[in-house]
Amino acid sequence: MGLIPNDVINKVIERSDIVEIIGNYTALKKAGRNFKALCPFHNEKTPSFVVNPDKQIFHCFGCGVGGNAVGFLMRQEHLEFPEAVRFLANKAGVQVPETSSDEPSPSRHLREGILKINALAAAFFHEKLLTGHEADVKTARDYLKGRGVNLETVKKFQLGFAPNEWDALLKYLKSRGVSEELIHSGGLIIAREGKSGFYDRFRNRIVFPIADIQNRFVAFGARAMADSDGAKYINSPETALYTKGQHMFGLQLTKAAVGKLDRVIVVEGYMDMIMPYIHGVENIAASLGTALTVDQIRLIRRYTSNVVMLFDTDAAGQSAINRSLDTLIEQGMNVRVVMLDKDEDPDSFIRSSGVDAFRKRLEQAVSFFDFRLNWFKTQYDINTSEGKSQFFNKMVATIALTPDEIVQADWAKQLKEKLKFSDTLVREQLNKFTKEKLTLSDYFRGSGETKKVSACASAGEELLLALFLKDPAWVKAAQEHIGPEDFSEGQVRRVVEGIWVLAQGSSDWSTHDLLAHFNDEATQSVVTKLISIEEGKLTDPARVFLDCVGQIQKEKQKKARGRLMEAIHQAEALQDIEKLNKLREQFNQLLKTS
Ligand SMILES: [Zn+2]
Repeated sequence: MGLIPNDVINKVIERSDIVEIIGNYTALKKAGRNFKALCPFHNEKTPSFVVNPDKQIFHCFGCGVGGNAVGFLMRQEHLEFPEAVRFLANKAGVQVPETSSDEPSPSRHLREGILKINALAAAFFHEKLLTGHEADVKTARDYLKGRGVNLETVKKFQLGFAPNEWDALLKYLKSRGVSEELIHSGGLIIAREGKSGFYDRFRNRIVFPIADIQNRFVAFGARAMADSDGAKYINSPETALYTKGQHMFGLQLTKAAVGKLDRVIVVEGYMDMIMPYIHGVENIAASLGTALTVDQIRLIRRYTSNVVMLFDTDAAGQSAINRSLDTLIEQGMNVRVVMLDKDEDPDSFIRSSGVDAFRKRLEQAVSFFDFRLNWFKTQYDINTSEGKSQFFNKMVATIALTPDEIVQADWAKQLKEKLKFSDTLVREQLNKFTKEKLTLSDYFRGSGETKKVSACASAGEELLLALFLKDPAWVKAAQEHIGPEDFSEGQVRRVVEGIWVLAQGSSDWSTHDLLAHFNDEATQSVVTKLISIEEGKLTDPARVFLDCVGQIQKEKQKKARGRLMEAIHQAEALQDIEKLNKLREQFNQLLKTS
């Protein structure tokens, strides 16, 4: 394994600023000495994600994840540990030594190669569209001009044209020293059937480069100029670099506006995205293809939780939009829906009715719940008892999709009121669909409050640990009275064990040493949670120490008494008088000292 030396890792973490790094993904607001934000890893309406600049860690009190800058990047960018360290090192200007075992993996090497040829190919297609003289290129330019796509937009999206030749791109890339093998791996050429050699995948088409969020071209889509040219759109196949359903077309250009307006309009195709964008609708992105995937939704959620789905009403679109809506709701997004009329898409709508009418339609977006209600009404005849029952079950299943309890309760209420279903009926049916029966029955009893059972150890243990992490000097003091075995079993005890090990080696251990000591995310998250415990609770450390150690000792004695009592009962049952006397003496001794 290509291990990066520890001192290099420490240097990288020292020179990185977690506030700056996380600030690239979610809006941080100062809160005392810390920063707060909406968690990028789960959906929430009030911020429970805390970034601590002093300790250089983050922790989410909502979903429980936590760690340092490396851990954040691993989670957010789906990187392996060495990749995340290198990413940070690059930013911080720290040299990470390349060792023979640490060379880029073959797959990383291939991905980087495809990125490079994609950039070359995009530039080649773009140049052709701008300067080509052939009749086909002129048709493409006229097509774009006719739709109002100006030069600025062509440049911004690096739109291009693939010449009407079998090997224009292939020849060009080879002239730039790229191997056929790599071009083929990138999906830009296709092997000839029954013969040797390759030909260009994209020919006589307008090319739309598909970028990742960092504006690097990962794939291409291409539109035919005439109906006779086969499929209207063809796309890059999946490659080592490109997986379908992981990108949103245009989001690399609109992400800032999406974040600022806290809303994204999701459309289907390239032109559906480009046309409104040209007319000043800046918070828009295209899903490219059928239903939205979880990966795409996670990408969107980095910038907003509010989605307006804009779709046309053709039959193929209907099932895709319903699948997209289900996934969006399951992922806890807030969704509104705009349906355009038959044979209309955003592109044609804006050309025929103008952008003001388009914006008006966006404002008239219906809530997800109403959309579903209307949709199922068209699917089932609610005047028959059978249809009504099917309709009801579908609606309840829809309500059960959302992970947000408050939203769920609100929808349940709407269903009950709008369709005059009884409380009991809605409740019983919903409970079949949801695991959190307590929550729902609480709602129907009218309390509306949700109770969460804490899986963590007693507050005293956690507070004491937080103290250890704030100032390791308290560890020494505690070691005179208690040991790891006195803490509740589980992750908290594991953390204490880790601290005891570190404290043995040196009294000068840091939070990062402790995080590095554990290689499981669950224990790391306990550490970051404890570090993130509000300063307010630790203003009087000596008091916290005495109270918590006292509480743990009491707990320890209680357990000891319990064990003795059990032994006494056993001795009684066995009529073992000698043992019984000994145990009773021990018990009295214990009572005196406690
Ligand atoms: Zn979270």
